[in-house]
Amino acid sequence: MGNELSETTTGAIGDRFSAEILAAVDAGFEAQTAFTQKLIRYPSVRGQEQPCQDFIFGQLQERGLAMDRWVIDVADIEDHPGFSPVNVSYDNAINVVGTHRPRQEVGRSLILNGHVDVVPAGPDGMWIRPPFDPWIDGDWLYGRGGADMKAGLAANIFALDALRMIDRRPAATVHVQSVTEEECTGNGALSALLRGYRAAAAIIPEPEDDKLVRANVGVIWFRVSVQGRPVHVRDAGAGANAIEASFRLVQALRELEAAWNLRKAGRRHFADVDHPINFNVGKIEGGDWASSVPAWCTFDCRIATFPGTDPRQATREIEDTIETAAQQDRFLADNPPEVEFNGFFTQGYELEEGSDAEQTLAHAHARAFGTSLESFVTPSYLDGRVFVLYDDCPCLVYGPRSHDIHGFDERVSLASVKRVTGTIALFIAEWCGLEPA
Ligand code: ZN
Repeated sequence: MGNELSETTTGAIGDRFSAEILAAVDAGFEAQTAFTQKLIRYPSVRGQEQPCQDFIFGQLQERGLAMDRWVIDVADIEDHPGFSPVNVSYDNAINVVGTHRPRQEVGRSLILNGHVDVVPAGPDGMWIRPPFDPWIDGDWLYGRGGADMKAGLAANIFALDALRMIDRRPAATVHVQSVTEEECTGNGALSALLRGYRAAAAIIPEPEDDKLVRANVGVIWFRVSVQGRPVHVRDAGAGANAIEASFRLVQALRELEAAWNLRKAGRRHFADVDHPINFNVGKIEGGDWASSVPAWCTFDCRIATFPGTDPRQATREIEDTIETAAQQDRFLADNPPEVEFNGFFTQGYELEEGSDAEQTLAHAHARAFGTSLESFVTPSYLDGRVFVLYDDCPCLVYGPRSHDIHGFDERVSLASVKRVTGTIALFIAEWCGLEPA
């Protein structure tokens, strides 16, 4: 047996070496926190990811990784079953990947994935401080996109940095991915897969309360466009109010949500989840004037599906629900609402239990946290589905504690981020092996 403190290693590592890796994560954590804050300062909402991607590109390049960067081309991915339809320009939908190649491929390859896009912050005045001006209060780092998931993106990069601090690097290929479109379609991670990025395992440090995601839901986005008949309000009875008609359609969709939730019975991973299928009206527009019966209304929706549900089947049920409700409306019966699928068109996944990758993660987590790894089921979309469903790759969605992601005062626990970074560094050491830097 060689001296693992100076030579190439593969497989499980000893206590002393683990402690050295965790000490390096600790030593680098101040810089990691500053790096995460820098990422938060880029307001990388949809269509505005480019400056943040440029920064990440430069940072990975400085670290000696072989760089790739591309604009997602819908034509390259639209025939894949995991594609989600889009009605926005992809001119600024940019993916960045940095690849580490070892001198000798001794261990198993790995993808460290994170998404750079963040959801809109909402009215700034609802935040304690401006959402893209990060601040720290005690253990919490605040700012839009800090938890979801720039802390995770930084953790991936600084886990590799920690290994370099002790003159080590992975003894297998590692792709560091910064993808976009995670919050609306999942097309960014899909595009990276179809560009040829594959590995024996993947890690995505989404904010998951220090746990591993065992299963999640699929998500579907759609926009409903409703017409009305505009008249002066004095003749309101002769008109048709598109906004009020939309309320009735939303009510019908709530009933669909209830029906879908009943289907959790007997499901291995969702039977005990309180309300796994969540329907949301996330945006609504309509009408032109307070004294005119509104002639139009559009509303944007999100609904979930259980793993194994073909999105095309789900969309038929959505369309049938709207059509049936419209037929009960005097005006809409002859002027049916239009339904457009304009984003997520995805399936959920279930992570097979007990894979080598999961065991390696459990081992690394136990050393970094001093507790055993727990898994759980989450009723949200994750890019992990691209790896699990379309490449049979064990994807470990595992990351730090957070509060209020997608809400006001989004924040992530720094102590948790540090431990998660330690877990990732230890995972790399065991999964990929290490060679001298
Ligand atoms: Zn996320």
